[in-house]
Amino acid sequence: MLGEGIIKGLAETARNFAGSFVSAERLTTVQYPEQRIAPFEATRDFPFLVYDGQDWEAGLRCVACQICEKECPPKCIYIDKSTDKKPDALGKPQFYPARFDIDISVCMSCQICVEVCPFEAIKMDTEFELSTTDRFGGLLQDRKQLAKSNEYYHEIHPTEAAEVDARLAEEKAKADAKAKAAATAAAGKVAPAAAKPAAPSVTGGA
Ligand code: SF4
Ligand code: SF4
Repeated sequence: MLGEGIIKGLAETARNFAGSFVSAERLTTVQYPEQRIAPFEATRDFPFLVYDGQDWEAGLRCVACQICEKECPPKCIYIDKSTDKKPDALGKPQFYPARFDIDISVCMSCQICVEVCPFEAIKMDTEFELSTTDRFGGLLQDRKQLAKSNEYYHEIHPTEAAEVDARLAEEKAKADAKAKAAATAAAGKVAPAAAKPAAPSVTGGA
């Protein structure tokens, strides 16, 4: 019927309007900032850097590969790669970001940096109360401001963080098994020499 969609839409609007007086579920606004609605798990605003353990600097997962910096559409990520290396979560020596800044006044929350990161090192935050009177420096967040623990990641995106943990644990198990196999093979190569019986000593006389 012609106009059926319009009638359905108006009915829904009327239902929400009337329902908002009696049902909390149909209230679309709250008296912010006195009242707050907890963000949904899928909420995202600006990126943060995940770290493991207690020390944010030592535990940063980022290895400064700069893929996110290249792929960020508005180019608001600035990374300087370190000149030395530190062990990553698998114990492998890796570069780290000596500088990692994001200009959140430019960031458009597209999440591309998260999708391209091969190290599960950058994720989307749900924190939105970031306004400041300092229009320039105040919105350029450095690596210390961006660093947030894996526990925090679990708090804001529990399902996604659990999947990431499982994936990282699987990768670590594979790396451990590979290292063990390599160590066993290396031991096998040296074993015959080590096991070689000592040549009988030649004694004089008789
Ligand atoms: S969310 Fe998008 S715009 Fe923001 S830093 Fe990541 S890639 Fe850049
Ligand atoms: S956040 Fe990820 S993609 Fe970006 S530099 Fe670090 S490891 Fe590379």
